[in-house]
Amino acid sequence: MKGATLDFEFEGASGELVSINHDIKELHVNLSKENYSYCHSFLFKVKLDQPETDIKIVIDNAGRSSFQKGWYGYRPFISLDFLNWKRLPDSEFRNGQFSFSVDHPTTEFYVAWYPPYSSQMLDEFLSATVKKKNDFEVWQQKIPCIRYGDLNKPTVIIIGRQHPGESMGSFFIEGLLEELVNGQHMPNLSFLMFPIVNIEGTRAGNHRLDKNNMDFNRIWDREDTFELEVIKNEINKLPTPKLFIDVHGDEVSKVDYIFYNKINIDKRKQLFPPIKEELPDILFLKKLGFTKRFVKSLVDRRKLLLKSGRLAFDFVQSKFSIPAFTLEISAHNTDHDESRTMGGQFLKGLKKIDWR
Ligand SMILES: [Zn+2]
Repeated sequence: MKGATLDFEFEGASGELVSINHDIKELHVNLSKENYSYCHSFLFKVKLDQPETDIKIVIDNAGRSSFQKGWYGYRPFISLDFLNWKRLPDSEFRNGQFSFSVDHPTTEFYVAWYPPYSSQMLDEFLSATVKKKNDFEVWQQKIPCIRYGDLNKPTVIIIGRQHPGESMGSFFIEGLLEELVNGQHMPNLSFLMFPIVNIEGTRAGNHRLDKNNMDFNRIWDREDTFELEVIKNEINKLPTPKLFIDVHGDEVSKVDYIFYNKINIDKRKQLFPPIKEELPDILFLKKLGFTKRFVKSLVDRRKLLLKSGRLAFDFVQSKFSIPAFTLEISAHNTDHDESRTMGGQFLKGLKKIDWR
């Protein structure tokens, strides 16, 4: 390999160059530090001086991620244009290093843990579709906010990207909005959405935290975070909020799942079957007792799920007395296009629910 450079100087980029070994065509990168831990996501651009048959990319400190079990069998993404992303065929996680080969790379390409979804992409999507429609209202209170329909009717609240690296949440919400725009009008249901809650962390290329090193999904009982206060105030104004959904991405799990706590049986019977009908592979997991151990064995991140602090869905459920859950989209199982499709299917499920 004659020469190569790595570019981390664009919105959402993440990682640090360690070294380039020209003789064996290896690029070594570290995950960026994020407070006392490391980002699980990485995103950067590779520029080669001349075409190569193959190069190897090594994430040297991958084992330092809190979600390191997620590296086994994980297939990262590459893109030539930053918009169209393809999974690589395989990878290896050994001795704390995560590595993968790129065969016949072009001289310039992007590498990502998961396809990025920037604040600019959201702006462009909203301008091209949602903003032209009468049923929608789009505004900013530091974070982008979207309303659909008559808010005097029952309202579903959806938020995404509390954790900025979990871009699948934004693809999911985009798919849901597309279905809202193109599907049948719903006179009896309204929506309040916040597709990118941690907007500063998203711009900075963080994985979990905001610029003050706060994990948004652990501080809902506090009142000092502007972004979360915006959401609470908007929910507070709703006459008939009916359901709160917080969309996340899961680094380790091989399945998509809905995580809930203390939703009574009648409400579960009302809400879950229509969703399950449209998304048959999704699991519903209750946060308690036996299921807790089941969750651990299944997704192996119990410590993180149960880490101290107030989660969004727990807070909203008790404060506003409405059912609330977290939707976790598996980074392994569900790529960006599938996340978008899932959002559309999810909306079809919501349409089938009897909201009276
Ligand atoms: Zn998350």
